[in-house]
Amino acid sequence: MFDLFGLDYFVDGSKRIFWLYLVSALMIALLFFWKQRAILKMQFSKEVLWHPSARLDYLYFGVMGIVKTLLLLPLLVGVNEVALWMVMAIQEVFGYVERIRVDRIWLITGYTTMLFVFNDLTRYWLHRWMHTSSLLWRFHRVHHSAEVLNPMTFYRVHPIENLLFGFRYALTTGAITALFIYFFGAGIGVVEIFGANMIVFIFMLIGANLRHSHIPLHYPKRIEKWLISPYQHQLHHTTRYSRYNYGSTLAVWDWWFGSLLYSKDLTYIDEPLRFGLLDEQPTHSLVGAFFNPFYKGIKL
Ligand SMILES: [Zn+2]
Ligand SMILES: [Zn+2]
Repeated sequence: MFDLFGLDYFVDGSKRIFWLYLVSALMIALLFFWKQRAILKMQFSKEVLWHPSARLDYLYFGVMGIVKTLLLLPLLVGVNEVALWMVMAIQEVFGYVERIRVDRIWLITGYTTMLFVFNDLTRYWLHRWMHTSSLLWRFHRVHHSAEVLNPMTFYRVHPIENLLFGFRYALTTGAITALFIYFFGAGIGVVEIFGANMIVFIFMLIGANLRHSHIPLHYPKRIEKWLISPYQHQLHHTTRYSRYNYGSTLAVWDWWFGSLLYSKDLTYIDEPLRFGLLDEQPTHSLVGAFFNPFYKGIKL
């Protein structure tokens, strides 16, 4: 029962809303915005946390727990199946090669890093595609229909988008795993903390949850070129700049592929941002969020 509504996410270190990541985000917000009480007060106000948009986030999260267990999990392919199939395919085409011998520490560090980098890259491109394809945008707009942001907004994602990101993860992780097994043998492993890839863990700990919040934490420009700051993702949620900052952790993809927007580029950085969709007033209904994307032209 606990698992069915997704409550296990709060105690699972591989999930964004793991209690430790929520606490660290709060600490960071308090540390940097202690002097700007109005910002902190607004985040914890009824207008933000009990807005119809936020209430849909909470309800949606609970219902998605059931949808994921009953509908999505049986449909998803596993990483192991993809990896096994790819190793066989590579061996079939390129034949057998002598395993390269490297120190286990380098092997594990390399594998951990590659998994992180390539998952971040494919996440960037799929996210960008969700915006540029009109069909996929119908599903992705469920995430963008949020008018206020809180950490649970991260999970306001249509099941079809969840499926696509699930396939993306299996293909990316499977392909990297297959290449490592092909060249280095089966003795690979990931450096994990609380069940999360170590690099992902660090990112989640340094305030990933502020991406979905009204706390405008941004980094100096020279860092925002490499790492997406929470404020840069908040910009992605505005009606005006949603075609920028598709990145999750690394900003280099946005930088290299021409979609990066720095926080400092905005002259009115002190003004509150307007989140949501440009062309409509969302009703924040649960049924609408699940079913409207299937009907072309129907507003959310
Ligand atoms: Zn988006
Ligand atoms: Zn978002």
